[in-house]
Amino acid sequence: MTAVTKAVRGHPAIARAMLYGGAQGLAEARLSNVKRLRKAGIVCPITLIRTPMLSQVDDVVQICEASYNTEITVIAALAAAALRHNMVHGIILMVEMGDLREGIMPRDLGDIGQQVVDMPGVALKGIGANFACLSGIAPTAAKMQALSVLADDTEGQCGPFLQTISGGNSANLSWVFDARVTGRINDLRLGEAILLGVDPITGDQIGGMYRDAFTLVAEVIETDAKSVRPLVGSADHILARIRLVPDASETTRIILAIGNQDTDVAGLSMPPGNTHIGATSDHLVVGTKDPALGVGSEMRFQMNYSALMRAMAAPDIQTNLRNDRPAPNARDVQSPSRHLALV
Ligand SMILES: *Cc1c(COP(=O)(O)O)cnc(C)c1O
Repeated sequence: MTAVTKAVRGHPAIARAMLYGGAQGLAEARLSNVKRLRKAGIVCPITLIRTPMLSQVDDVVQICEASYNTEITVIAALAAAALRHNMVHGIILMVEMGDLREGIMPRDLGDIGQQVVDMPGVALKGIGANFACLSGIAPTAAKMQALSVLADDTEGQCGPFLQTISGGNSANLSWVFDARVTGRINDLRLGEAILLGVDPITGDQIGGMYRDAFTLVAEVIETDAKSVRPLVGSADHILARIRLVPDASETTRIILAIGNQDTDVAGLSMPPGNTHIGATSDHLVVGTKDPALGVGSEMRFQMNYSALMRAMAAPDIQTNLRNDRPAPNARDVQSPSRHLALV
């Protein structure tokens, strides 16, 4: 298992917890997050799972052991950068298997693999696939079997043993729990499942995992007994004749100091007895039956992946860790990797 830290913007303490929990390495989509991890002293292997930008290849080879790639131009630039820094950079080729986001078409894989093998400065480390990201195509046993066959074919065509056959992300978990045979697949890149404890395809809790490892806390800034229904503008002469009666329920509107600039408001789950009325960039309006929610009091929300990712990256959201303690024997703190330079 490779743990993906992008949803927590490469938060070092969370990355350490993932390693302590058994992850074999970390994966990141953004180089800035990798730098944050390295600056915090994390020395485990880190793989860049988004195709590197040409403008960043020098940093990529210095702080990432390997990267996922789909473009031979980028691989050639990584190879040249690796040679400049006297290193060998690992290449994992991403194969397109139906999600239609990133990837090399399977028929081109052998050819590109061969070019990588022939290029000094890079080493062909493996192949990978990604599912259920852009088009929601779920990984089936047949797709996984096809990826295993592609691994064998690529080895047959290009020569070297492929160390990593990465089957996908959290959407692969039900396959891996059900599969009697996992074939050549020996790695999954997991973010959402670890952080939120849910299967992204079904939304179901994964047995034994917590769903509330993250909580978003927002402060109430207005409690006004406004009707939960918007008042109709009297400029509209037909609607002006409708008499508004006070809402009989005990629901009142409160305003919280959080908005679309801080999180994906649609991805917050409302505590029982509360309803989402609307949100703007900086305000969240909630209908509540809880009379205890006065100005200055706090409301707590669980987040989905998109809400979590944005909250963790928002400058006005403070991240507080509870019960944070240094993880003993964490794999990453044992011995510094020889070929890594901190930038
Ligand atoms: C984000 C990402 C992952 C992790 O996905 P989760 O759904 O969080 O498990 C894995 N692989 C790639 C290429 C990604 O971009």
